[in-house]
Amino acid sequence: MSVLLTLTRIVQSAAEADSPAVQVNCVVDGIQREMAVDVCSLFLRTDHGELLLVASHGLGQAAIGRVSVPAGKGLVGEVAESRHPLNIVEPARHPAFFYLPGSDEEQFRSFCAVPLVRRGAVIGVLVVQRRAPAAFSPEEEAFLVTLGAQLALVVANWEDWQLAEASGFRNLTGLPGAPGIGMGQVYLCEDLDLFSVADGRCVNMQEELHMWRQLLATVQTEVKAEQSTLDSSLSQEVSGIFDAYLMLLADPMLTQGVEEGIGGGRDLPSALRIVVQHYADLFMAMDDPYLRARHEDIRHLGNRLYSAWIRSQHTSASALPQGPVILVGRHVSVSDIANTPREQLAGVVCFQGSILSHTAVLANALGVPAVMGVGEVKGLADGVSILIDGAAGKVFLEPDSVLQQEYSKLQASEHAFTDRLESLRDKPAVTRDGVAISLYANSGLTADIMPGLRNGAEGLGLYRTEIPFMISETFPSEEEQYQLYREVMAAYGDKPVYMRVLDIGADKPLPYFPIHEENPALGWRGIRFCLDNASLLLSQLRAMLRAAGMAGNLQIILPMVSALGELREFTAVLDDALNQLDSAGHAVRRPPVGIMVEVPAAISQLGKWRSYIDFISIGSNDLSQYVLAVDRNNPRVAASYDHLHPAVVAEIARVVQAAEQLDLPVSLCGEMSSDPHAVPLLVAMGIRRLSMSAAQLPRIKWLIRAMDSAKAQSVYDEVCKAGDSDEIRAVTSAYLSDLAFPGLVKQTR
Ligand code: PEP
Ligand code: MG
Repeated sequence: MSVLLTLTRIVQSAAEADSPAVQVNCVVDGIQREMAVDVCSLFLRTDHGELLLVASHGLGQAAIGRVSVPAGKGLVGEVAESRHPLNIVEPARHPAFFYLPGSDEEQFRSFCAVPLVRRGAVIGVLVVQRRAPAAFSPEEEAFLVTLGAQLALVVANWEDWQLAEASGFRNLTGLPGAPGIGMGQVYLCEDLDLFSVADGRCVNMQEELHMWRQLLATVQTEVKAEQSTLDSSLSQEVSGIFDAYLMLLADPMLTQGVEEGIGGGRDLPSALRIVVQHYADLFMAMDDPYLRARHEDIRHLGNRLYSAWIRSQHTSASALPQGPVILVGRHVSVSDIANTPREQLAGVVCFQGSILSHTAVLANALGVPAVMGVGEVKGLADGVSILIDGAAGKVFLEPDSVLQQEYSKLQASEHAFTDRLESLRDKPAVTRDGVAISLYANSGLTADIMPGLRNGAEGLGLYRTEIPFMISETFPSEEEQYQLYREVMAAYGDKPVYMRVLDIGADKPLPYFPIHEENPALGWRGIRFCLDNASLLLSQLRAMLRAAGMAGNLQIILPMVSALGELREFTAVLDDALNQLDSAGHAVRRPPVGIMVEVPAAISQLGKWRSYIDFISIGSNDLSQYVLAVDRNNPRVAASYDHLHPAVVAEIARVVQAAEQLDLPVSLCGEMSSDPHAVPLLVAMGIRRLSMSAAQLPRIKWLIRAMDSAKAQSVYDEVCKAGDSDEIRAVTSAYLSDLAFPGLVKQTR
C-alpha cells in the first residue's frame, strides 16, 4: 500500500474530527500505528513561543497539555529553530537533550522529529520514538517529513481554539474578504450529517430525480476543483483518492440505487442515506484492509452530497432563522448569497478562498462583510452567535459582551461615515485641481443594480453576465436573458452599460455544465469558452442587442482575450447576430466592442488589435493573477497576490500609455479601483474611469474629491521607485493619512 495514501488517510480522518483535541489524538494514534513506533508526540507553538506537548501516544499522559519546551531548548526546540529534521539514537546523550517532567521519555533510545511549517513559520514539531537504539530509516524520515507538511495545514487553527477555551469565545483568523463589521447568528451552508437523516417520502418523483442528477453534477465539479488545489507534492497519490470519489459519483450502484429509492417513494436524503449506508457496510465487511478502509470514503462522499443538497434547499427566506445571519461554509456559493434576503445578510465566512474569490467579489458588491480562508472549522452549529471583522479577516464565535460593545461602537462610526458620504451622492468625483473621474458600478446580481445607482454611479462599468448563469438551473434561454438585460438597461436609462459576455470557467463554474481541468485558470474560460460554444454566444449577443434596441448606451466587453483570432471570430458571431435580428425585423444597432485587459499577452498586442476594439477595461484581478503567477483563490499563496506589487503597477502603467498612443478609451474595473491605496496611482497614470462595487463608490468619491492630481503624481513618482508592495503602501499610506482618509488602517488587500 502506498505511503502517501496512508498518510492521506490519517490526515483525512483527523480533518473529520469534531474538536482539535480529538483531531490531534487521531493524528498521533494513526502515525504510531502506521509507523509501528512506541511514541508519537505532537508539540505546537504557543503565543509565547514555547512548544507545548498537545498530544502523545506513548509518553506519560500527565504531561499532555502541561509541559512545554522553552523556545530554542531541547531537541524539539532545536528542530523548531533549525527548521530541519533530526534523526538520532540515544537522544538522552545529545547535548541539547531537555527532560520533560512526567513524560517517561528516558526509556526511548531512538528519536526522529520534523518541524511543522506553515506560511514560512514553524508552528510545531512532530516526534516519533522507539525503545530500540536503531536510527529511523531514510524512508521513515521522508514519510514523517511529508506527513508534517500536511499536518501543518490540519492543525493550523489549533491555537485559535485553545485561545477560545481560555477566553470564553473562539477567535479565528482568516483573510480580509470584504470590509465591514457583521454580527448575527451562524447559518451553515454545508457540512451536515447524512447518517442522522430521518426517513421521508418524496412529493414529486420527477422533481426529486431531477434534483438528484443536478446534485451529482454539482459535487463532481466541487471534487474536481479540490483535486486541483491540493499540494503538488502529493498530487499523484492524492489524485487517486479524488479519482476514486469521481468514480463513485458515476457508479450505477450509487446513481441508480438512489434513483430506485426515489422511484420507491423515498425523498432524496433518505434514499441517499440508505444507499450510502449499504455501500459503506459492504466495504466494511471486506477482508482486504485497504478496501475495508474505503468505507470512510463512501461515507465522506455521502456527507458531501447531503451538504450540497442542504445548500440547494436554502432557497427561501423561510429556511433562515429570524434576524441577521452570517453565512458560514467551506465555499459559501453565489446562490447562497443570492438566496439570502439582503436585509438579513450580515456577513459571509468561508473556510477556503481569498479576497478575489467570486464570493468575496460579490460580498464587496453588496457591501456585505466577508472573511475568507479561515481553514476548516469543526463543531459549528446553526444559531451560534458570531461577529466578523471583514477588513481585519477576524471571526469571533460567541463573542462576549465587551467585544460586542467595542465592535458596535466601531460599526456605529462606520455607519456615521457612510451617512456623511450620502451627501456626496449627486456631487461629481473631481479632484481639488479639477480632474474629473467617472465612477461606474460593477454588478452581476439584480440585487446590486439599484445600490449602484443610489450611490451615484454614472454608468454600469462591468455587468458580469455569468452571475445570472451561475444561479440559474440550466443555461438561460435567449428570452430569459433578454428580459434580464432589458431590466438592467432600463434601470440605467441612458447611462452607459458595459455588458461582458459570459466569463465562466476557473472559479466560476456552472453547476449544470461541469468542466474538469488540471489547470482551470489557464484553461477553457472566458472568450475561449464562448467561441467554442458559438450558439450560446450568439443567443447571448442577440439577447443583449434586442435589450438595447436602438439606444446607444450598450457596450460589449470580451473577457480573457489573448489572440487576434479571437477578436476576428467574435466579430463574425456579432455580425451574424446583427444580420439575423435585422432580417427578423428587430431594430438594433452595432454596439462598441472592447476587451478586458487581463491576460498579459494583450498588453503588447493592443496596437495590432486596435481596428477590432473601441475601448479597453483593465481587469486588475486577473491581470495580477497572471502577471504574478499567483492563483487569486488560493489562500496558501494569498500573501503573494497583490495588485500593488510593483510589477502589476508597472504593467498597468504600460497599458495606459499604450491606450493613450492608440487613442483607446481606458478604464479599470477590478477590485483595485476601490482600493484607496491604488486610486491616486491610477489617477496619476491617466485613468479617468473607475468601475467598482456599488458599496465602495462613496468612499472612493470622497477620496477623489479630497485629492490633488499634482500631488498624486508625485506620490506615483515615488511609488515607481519602490521595490515591493510594502514600500508602495508606506508611500500611499502617508498620502492617505495627510488627506485624513477615514478607515486608513483597513487596507483592502
Ligand atoms: C478582473 O479580472 O479584474 C475582473 C474585473 O473580472 P473578474 O473579477 O470577473 O474575473
Ligand atoms: Mg477577470
